[in-house]
Amino acid sequence: MANGLTMDLAASSESLALMSVLGVTVRFGGILALDAIEFDVARGQICGLIGPNGAGKTTLFNCMNRLYHYQSGDILFEGQSIKGTPTHQVARLGMGRTFQNLAIFRSMPVRDNVLVGAHSRSFCGFLSSALRLPRVQAEERRLRERADEIMDYLGLSPFRDRLVGDLPFGTQKRVELGRALAADPKLLMLDEPAAGLNHEELDALAQLIRDLRDRLKITVLLVEHHMSLVMGVSDHIVVLNFGRKIAEGPPGLIQSHPDVIEAYLGAQSARTAHTQAADPRPAALDYGTGGSHGQVA
Ligand code: ATP
Repeated sequence: MANGLTMDLAASSESLALMSVLGVTVRFGGILALDAIEFDVARGQICGLIGPNGAGKTTLFNCMNRLYHYQSGDILFEGQSIKGTPTHQVARLGMGRTFQNLAIFRSMPVRDNVLVGAHSRSFCGFLSSALRLPRVQAEERRLRERADEIMDYLGLSPFRDRLVGDLPFGTQKRVELGRALAADPKLLMLDEPAAGLNHEELDALAQLIRDLRDRLKITVLLVEHHMSLVMGVSDHIVVLNFGRKIAEGPPGLIQSHPDVIEAYLGAQSARTAHTQAADPRPAALDYGTGGSHGQVA
């Protein structure tokens, strides 16, 4: 009985972590970009990953996507190491991603961009696709319906036939999100989704991120410099600085954490000194490339 209970507890605590980062270390020549980083991304939560410029956030995303190799440590997705998974199969595990610099096909229509995401989880092989076997046609229909659903969900249907390059930046970002969502991810990794958005688009983005968690049951890992967005939507926040994890916890704790304040103020004063050397006017309060919205406390 006691053993059964212990096993149940172990199983349930295991399933809480959708992804576990276990001592991940990455070096680029002499630069230690990530130094034994450890944390869990809990299933069903929005986890913010923040830190000043150069902290290692994108490097960690690239490790999770298998774009970069880590020299030591491991990353588990649903309890399994991703070390042996080739980059092109990461989407099949259930990980979707958007990029700092949009990864979309600007000369293709919106619908085709979203379809690219749906195809990344299609299981029809090259030969059956080339022969247009009936099951391929059924699968193609299913993927097109899925792409239509995603475009409706993101308000992209009116633009379905427009070339992505002709659309405003905020809409292009939604197309990229649509591509990632069309692959039905369990974990959606958003790399600076707020960058370049206006106030209205920011409010809509915050609502959308919450909706992804609450209605679509997607776990979200969010890299963002826009502090009010991260603090407003995240259940849990991990803070990196110079490749090290310096804090993690709920937003309230992170906002008042002395090491986090120190890290951001250090980055701020370095930038201020640099800016003032070039331009003696007072610098705007700014915690990163994301713009002037950053606020730690
Ligand atoms: P930002 O907020 O500016 O995007 P970041 O937290 O995402 O920064 P990274 O881009 O991960 O930080 O960079 C971490 C460190 O690793 C930096 O010192 C960066 O110069 C270095 N770095 C990242 N990618 C490479 C690479 N491919 N080759 C060499 N150095 C790299």
